[in-house]
Amino acid sequence: MNTIALLKQEGHARLGIVRTGHGEIETPVFMPVGTQGIVKATSPRDLKNMGIKVILANAYHLYLRPGDHLVREMGGIHRFAGWDGAVLTDSGGYQVFSLGVLREIREDGVLFQSHIDGSRHFLSPEKVVEVQENIGADICMCFDECAPYPSSYEYTSNSVDLTSRWAERCKNAKKNDGTMLFGIVQGGFYRDLRLKSAEELIKMDFDGYAVGGLSVGEPKSIMWEMVDTVVDMLPKDKPRYLMGLGFPEDIVEGARKGIDMFDCVIPTRHARNGSLFTRNGRINIKHAKYVKDESPIDEQCQCYTCRTFSRAYLRHLFVSHEISSYYLNTIHNIFFYNNLMQTIREAIREGSFETFYEAFKGEWKGGELQDEYSIRDGHSGSIRTGG
Ligand SMILES: [Zn+2]
Repeated sequence: MNTIALLKQEGHARLGIVRTGHGEIETPVFMPVGTQGIVKATSPRDLKNMGIKVILANAYHLYLRPGDHLVREMGGIHRFAGWDGAVLTDSGGYQVFSLGVLREIREDGVLFQSHIDGSRHFLSPEKVVEVQENIGADICMCFDECAPYPSSYEYTSNSVDLTSRWAERCKNAKKNDGTMLFGIVQGGFYRDLRLKSAEELIKMDFDGYAVGGLSVGEPKSIMWEMVDTVVDMLPKDKPRYLMGLGFPEDIVEGARKGIDMFDCVIPTRHARNGSLFTRNGRINIKHAKYVKDESPIDEQCQCYTCRTFSRAYLRHLFVSHEISSYYLNTIHNIFFYNNLMQTIREAIREGSFETFYEAFKGEWKGGELQDEYSIRDGHSGSIRTGG
């Protein structure tokens, strides 16, 4: 059964619609991260007003606190969190491996201690699906082992085999027909293992396919090589999700390669650090040069923050540690990302994506914080966990 309706294609780039139990999602789409069921420093009403159709929540975090059974008792995540758009839940695999302590990976699952209170937990593929169904996600993810970078061929190979066996168990454990379950292609940075992982998952016929285990500290060229390796193999009638990426330039590149879905904490986390996206790259609002700057963050941006406040005022809020600074900055960055996705979709619709791509590459600059904020080097593990 096809789970994405393709409306248009230009090169590898795809314009599509994914139908969920909580509305239709136009793709390529960026999913803001709402680790605890809310996108930090926003409200569901803000997201709705901006046209956001889907957010990502973390099964690991909600399982530990407040507990998936409580979420279920409270009517599921949509009712509990006051969000009627779609929700995709991360399986928790990534968090177990990056946040959990004293973990022990076994055939049947993973033993770990909570990063919150040290309590002991065991997550199996079956349990992970149950947790996501209790939360009430529209799109669930398989439990996978995200091998650390770098990992040996042998380690990665065993990890791919385990991820495939777990994927099969996740598929068998799924009870709710109204939700989708995506498989996660692993394989580290070995082409043949990526191909093997994709092949095995495709045979199991998932509702969508994610490419996982990337953006974990590797050079960018290698990351894109891995995406290229698998993306053409993936069934055309299923959504493709590149996990945990990234900066605007990464999203434009990914969309060009045929990726439909993206998520990352970058726009929200950067907003809280005063790093704001503009057409000309990122600016750091705390910079002294904005002290009397009457212009908005981005002249062309139509978000509430840009239509109402000057850089000078936003700088004042930021350096005063005023909590509204988080809110106003986050509104802008999410709006900026959503606007970028709309532009990408519009370009594919009009058959002008390649023109857009070339123009974007020519104009886009990384921005002021490139070296100060080295989240790509070795610390990228935290990108996906904190919201
Ligand atoms: Zn704005």
